[in-house]
Amino acid sequence: MSVLIVGSIALDTVQTPVETHPDLLGGSASYASVAASFFAPVKLVGVVGTDFPKKFIRLFKRRGIDLAGLQIAEGRTFRWSGVYEWDFNTRRTLSTELNVFEKFTPTLPRDYRDAPFVMLANIHPNLQHHVLDQVRRPKFILCDTMDLWINTAKAELLALLPRVDALCLNDSEARHLTGETSLIKAGRALLALGPRYAIIKKGEHGALLFCDDDFFSAPAYPLEDIHDPTGAGDCFAGALIGTVARAGRATPAVLRRAVINGSVVASFDVESFSLNRLIQLKPRDIARRQAEFVRLSRFQPG
Ligand code: AMP
Repeated sequence: MSVLIVGSIALDTVQTPVETHPDLLGGSASYASVAASFFAPVKLVGVVGTDFPKKFIRLFKRRGIDLAGLQIAEGRTFRWSGVYEWDFNTRRTLSTELNVFEKFTPTLPRDYRDAPFVMLANIHPNLQHHVLDQVRRPKFILCDTMDLWINTAKAELLALLPRVDALCLNDSEARHLTGETSLIKAGRALLALGPRYAIIKKGEHGALLFCDDDFFSAPAYPLEDIHDPTGAGDCFAGALIGTVARAGRATPAVLRRAVINGSVVASFDVESFSLNRLIQLKPRDIARRQAEFVRLSRFQPG
């Protein structure tokens, strides 16, 4: 079953303490689509400018991603640049150039409107609302967001939450949105805002999944070498909704598996800049790392 993904498509410049790379393929929808494509067919909605390199279009096509919803507008592609500190956790945005994003309206091609699984990747909440106004009864809607929208469009974001099935945030965003310091309390507070599931990502420390009175704590895959954490959250969410789509339904057991697959794919993303590691990934690499996850968290009680 297919997944509709709407979000940003960007040209990123990423600086780490050891390297700087300009004009990389980035954006929330780019990362999420490629990650989801390992689990289910993907339909992408986004906008790029006329300067967007053809090689990135070919990259999406090689992953079988449906680009009927990709708009190519007159002007420059959205650009973002950021710098990481030595811990690879602290990131500062250096610049954001909206360019063609400024006038972007996500209009869904007719055959996208019946997509059973929908991911609202990180974009302005009003655009996320606009997507939901066009889809017909999806089985499951996952929404991502970022600090910027909690600061500048909180009312629109809060109005969106009762319309979605799951909300995915990182730990600092969850604390910021709920005003809770404990992540357990924050998870419960997120559920009270509307979604059936809340997922809090904790970077290199794994993720928490909340549903009803229950929660599941997933570890992160311990990596020795991190090159670029950009897009890890989007890859996590893309693999998560791809797994739900592949299962055909969202149950707590499927969501647990989806959170692990999210962590698995995110762990590959951070091993290289942009989508360079992801595009080389084979299903057997994912299966191997899933098995490692099981091995790493198995123990004998007593
Ligand atoms: P993440 O590392 O998961 O937070 O995602 C990083 C990606 O988000 C980068 O590739 C950026 O191009 C994209 N991004 C940064 N700022 C924004 C924004 N304001 N709206 C949409 N996407 C953004």
